[in-house]
Amino acid sequence: MTQDFDSALPDTLPLHPQTSLQRWRPVSHSSMFDIVQSEFYEVIKEIAMLGQPIDLRPLQNAYDELIRAQSRELRQATLIHDTKESYKNQNSEIEPLTLENWDDYRNGTLKAPKLANVYSETKQLLEQDPAAFMPPVNDLKKLITALPFILQDPQSVIPDDNNTNDEIKVEGGQIELKCPISQDFFRQPLISRKCGHVVDAEPLRMHFERLRSAGRPVECPQGCQRTISESEFIPDKLMELRLHIYKARKRPHPEHSNAVTL
Ligand SMILES: [Zn+2]
Repeated sequence: MTQDFDSALPDTLPLHPQTSLQRWRPVSHSSMFDIVQSEFYEVIKEIAMLGQPIDLRPLQNAYDELIRAQSRELRQATLIHDTKESYKNQNSEIEPLTLENWDDYRNGTLKAPKLANVYSETKQLLEQDPAAFMPPVNDLKKLITALPFILQDPQSVIPDDNNTNDEIKVEGGQIELKCPISQDFFRQPLISRKCGHVVDAEPLRMHFERLRSAGRPVECPQGCQRTISESEFIPDKLMELRLHIYKARKRPHPEHSNAVTL
């Protein structure tokens, strides 16, 4: 028994079939990302309430950095997940370790995969498609894209907005800031996830009530002749911003009100 310790041990060993590798998992920052996103929304709202066009580049740069961080986290989580799957698959195809085959694993006749190698291989595969880990376009991204346009004109149509061809919503190239039912300015605008039409919350509730009590199907109040349900309506953050800006513009300037009181 003169073998040194190193060569007495196999280089790699098969994964025990009952080892789940569950404890090896990425740290998730998704709740932190949620907080940062809501902070972003508050900043955007404050900018809208000022109602004046400002330099938005610092905000856009910070947002891009957030997206890069989310993308990195998504990639890392996928890398760990795929590595574990691949490592388990490779182990399921080799002989489980026994006293009898210990020497075969030690002298290299039998070989078990090395986790570090599987990790590197998986990483190389993922690097072939860098665009695959961009987070999906979310509401915040849409608001940041729209902000420069609506700061210029709160009723402006956003280029590449899916609603630009909607003749009902856009009249004379302007977005309507009034509810199609009440004809008042939106107070709590809700947007349909199905047709993109915007209705104010309270008039919409009454619209449902009226038609249901008459035993009639409830159609979209903007005339797209679709039967609608309450659950398809979500808060329209973009419309809220448009109204903040519109109202900020209507307010008299402080200098002006000073002049009046003098
Ligand atoms: Zn509709």
